[in-house]
Amino acid sequence: MSAPSPAAGTSGEVTVDLPTPVRALAVAAHPDDIEFGCGATLAKWAAAGCEVHHLVCTDGSKGTWDPHQDLPDLVLQRQAEQRSAAKALGATAEVVFLGWPDGELDSGLRQRWQIAYWIRRLRPTVVLGHDPWKRYRLHPDHRHAGFLTVDGVVAARDPHFFPEQQIVHHRPEALLLFEADERNHVEAVSEADVARKLAALEAHDSQMRSTMHVELDTPEAEAQLAAFRQRVRNRLADHGAVAGLPLGEAFAAITDL
Ligand SMILES: [Zn+2]
Repeated sequence: MSAPSPAAGTSGEVTVDLPTPVRALAVAAHPDDIEFGCGATLAKWAAAGCEVHHLVCTDGSKGTWDPHQDLPDLVLQRQAEQRSAAKALGATAEVVFLGWPDGELDSGLRQRWQIAYWIRRLRPTVVLGHDPWKRYRLHPDHRHAGFLTVDGVVAARDPHFFPEQQIVHHRPEALLLFEADERNHVEAVSEADVARKLAALEAHDSQMRSTMHVELDTPEAEAQLAAFRQRVRNRLADHGAVAGLPLGEAFAAITDL
């Protein structure tokens, strides 16, 4: 007799719901990645009193299909959108932009230094980020941002890494990797959390066309927006099903930090 095989895309045992963290820090490559990856979870935690911080590694300056777009304007717009998105999730804490050029993010020591600095400064109980080990991932920024999150946690937790920062080291209790290849943890989310995730995603006006496939100010916009919302909801249902829940966000959780 063999053991029952785990659901596809999971690594066997699946845990549900961490205790609400005191502070959470979500790290992503671009404005909007955090909302896609863990927006409903952050909304749930923010509503329960968690201090939610956002850190975006790049300036988002490649995020348009318009070859004539003024890029410095786009960067400013995307920062404003990210702040609105954080607010829509109920997050009231820091929104940090590292400002590396979009599409050119590296996971080198300089960038790792920055992530470690912000982890030490903000002292999150839980850190969230892209899964750097996701197979067949095309976008290099997502891969590098994932490695930076993992490597930043390691550097932040031990006192002899980057001592010139002169900030006391900090060890988070958990790391949740979104878009995960091997999901072993689900955060259950409610309809209210889904509504806040959607509001946060829809704060990214500049991405409506290229990412959400919604042509604003056209007769089709309403139907396209409904289809986008349905796609997001379907994904939350798929993720919830990993743990037998109606709606959720699934992660690879690392709790031995
Ligand atoms: Zn992205």
